[in-house]
Order: sequence, then C-alpha cells, then structure tokens
Amino acid sequence: MQRVVRDAKARIRSFVENLEDIRYENQRKVLRAFQEARVGSHCFFDSTGYGYHDGGRDALEAIFATVFCTDSALVRPMIVSGTHAITLCLSLVQPGEELVSLSGAPYDTLQTVIGTRGSSANSLIQRGVLYKEVPLHPEGSLDFEAIERTVSCKTKMVLLQRSRGYSARPSILVEQISKVCALVKRINPQCIFFVDNCYGEFVELREPTEVGADLMAGSLIKNPGGTLAPSGGYIVGKRELVFHCGERLTAPGLGAALGPTFGLMRPLMQGFFVAPHMVGEALYGAILASAVFTALGYATSPKVGEERTDIIQMIEFGSKEKLLAFCHEIQRCSPVDSHCTPIPSEMPGYEDPVVMAGGTFIQGSSLELSADAPLRPPYRGFLQGGMGREHIEIALSEVVATFKDL
Ligand SMILES: *Cc1c(COP(=O)(O)O)cnc(C)c1O
Repeated sequence: MQRVVRDAKARIRSFVENLEDIRYENQRKVLRAFQEARVGSHCFFDSTGYGYHDGGRDALEAIFATVFCTDSALVRPMIVSGTHAITLCLSLVQPGEELVSLSGAPYDTLQTVIGTRGSSANSLIQRGVLYKEVPLHPEGSLDFEAIERTVSCKTKMVLLQRSRGYSARPSILVEQISKVCALVKRINPQCIFFVDNCYGEFVELREPTEVGADLMAGSLIKNPGGTLAPSGGYIVGKRELVFHCGERLTAPGLGAALGPTFGLMRPLMQGFFVAPHMVGEALYGAILASAVFTALGYATSPKVGEERTDIIQMIEFGSKEKLLAFCHEIQRCSPVDSHCTPIPSEMPGYEDPVVMAGGTFIQGSSLELSADAPLRPPYRGFLQGGMGREHIEIALSEVVATFKDL
C-alpha cells in the first residue's frame, strides 16, 4: 500500500468511527422490517406473465415502506433506472399545474424529462406543465427566501434533489430537507414534497420521508440495491401518490397489481438487506479518497470531516489528462473489464461527453467502485461505491502510484 494511503487511513479513523452508529441503526431498521414482513423462502419464487399474487414482491414493498416510514412502496425491477422512477413521480403533475425545483437545475437526465434541455415532445414542459426553478445560493445551499417567494398555493409539487449529481454544489442534509419541507407546507399544505433520493439512502440516520417528504424515489443500482440488485427503481410515500405512480408504470386500472419479478426477488431482498453495510463501505472509500487527494494537493468535496448525506466524492483534477488518468486507473483496478479503457462519449440524456469507469458486475452500478465525469472544465471527477474497503484501498494505492509520474 502506498504511504499516502496508509497515512490517510490513520487520519480518517475518528471520522469512520462516527459512522458506526449510523450503520448499526440502519442495519437494525432493515433487519426488523424483514422480520415484520415474515420473509421466507416462499418469497423467492419465480413469477412470470402478469405477475399476479407475487408474495415476494409484496413483502419487499412492505419492507421498503417500513424502512422509509411511509404508507406504501413500489419496488420493481421493471423500473429501468432512477430517472424512470423519478419521472413516474413527476408525472403526477398534470398539464396546467405547477412544478417547482427547490434545488436549482436538477440532475442532467431530468432536465430532458422536464424539458429545460433537449426537444422531446414528451417532456413535462412540452405537455403543458408550468415549471419554475429556484437557484441555489452561490455557495450551494438552499435559498429559503427565494423558495418562499416562488412556492405558492398554486404549486402542485416541489422537487428537491438531495445529492449533488455531477455538480459542485454540496448535497443537502436531511436536517435542511426537514426545514425546507416545513416552510413549503406552511405556504401550501397540499403541495406534494418530492425528493430525488438517489445516492442518499442509509447515509444518515433518517431519510427525507421521516422529516415530511410525501414522495421519494431512487435507483436499485445505487444504494438500496446493495450491489446485488440487477436492475430496478423504487418509489415510497403516501398511499394515494404511490398508487398513481403504479398506474403510470403499468396502466390505469392495473397499477401495482401487475408486474412479474422473473425470479429476481432473492437478489433484490438480499441486496436491500446488505445495503446499510455496503453504503458504509462506500462512505469509508469516499472519506479515504478525500483524505488521499487532499494530501496530494487537490480540492475535494466533501472534505474529510464534513458531514455527508450521500456517497459521492468529488475531486477537482483541473486538467483533462489527470481526470482521464484517474478514471483509467479505477477501471484498471476493477474485477470486471479491467483490460478495457473507458473513453468519453455521448450518453443519452447528458449534455457533455461523459467518461465512466466502472468495471462492475451490474452494468452502470455505482454502489460498486466507479468513477465518472462529464468532460468539462474544471474537470471534476466523481467517485463512488466499492463493495469493500480493501478494494478501494488497493485502487487508491494504484492511483497514487500513477499520479506520482504525472
Ligand atoms: C443517478 C441519479 C439519478 C438517476 O440516474 P439513473 O442513471 O437514471 O439511475 C437522478 N438523480 C441523481 C441525483 C442521481 O445521482
């Protein structure tokens, strides 16, 4: 192991210890939900066709609802990604109704969904939804005054993105979400408070739905899939809202009653069970990477001791060459496709070419060790995931060795 990494390990010890209570409590919460749902081997059978009476699917949805403290949950392998899950939630806003983003411009792919970018005839704006965006303060925090001026009794839904996505702004702590939720509800108690929770699950003790969010969505190839879910997304929230998302996913009248799970219940359940542990390992990796790159003289965010609410670690490389060298090294240290070189390319839904290093077992899974970046100055790289701290330490060691020669 490189000295820089060994020294960084020693420096982060106390910060890592602080995470242990969160890991313990979240694991306990998940374990208890499995027991309450009476999960048994009968839950793992192979449902096909319409997928009627899939008891495993019902049990998993009950588990998600319990863990996220909501009435109801929709957890499906046929939700193709986080973007799909979030789109189902946003589709509750009808033509002529108003949607307000409280956290500035949303994640790249959602800009196409909403219609602030691209020219899809199926975007919300093209279909007549009135959309407003409240920019964040220059340093990246929520602008409560502007939110108070923008949200009104006419606002049907507000959207808050917890994680930074591919931006330099800090992620939004659950404590902040709690405050802004109270503000929105004071202005308009009927307004649907919706949270894009991608990358946030199990990082803190509480989730946004425990502090007032009505609806929340995320991806199963990120945190709650625990690296084992082969595909899928989830939506949790108030019964009525989740019901409508179910009708959007399948068809009016059918809703969540249909949807085969093709024998995937075992990995979906096992993945959710190990998710608090896996997220803890990914957080360890993020903190270690922050410490290593700080020692090498790069700007990182979050900083080593900063409070975290997602698993993303940003490193500012300042040059395309260094960013690509970093991504190449992460790829080279992967268990799958280690002999491949990631090259930046156009991706559906993204504005700039994106480079994605991820030699992952599940395609695109970013709770497995992965690094990605849109290719634009100042060449920020985003590192996340890792199924165990040893793998992350090995990869960072290799990165450090390469960076010595740059
Ligand atoms: C990953 C992500 C999404 C959804 O992305 P998919 O690749 O479609 O799963 C949405 N919002 C944020 C903040 C994300 O990080």
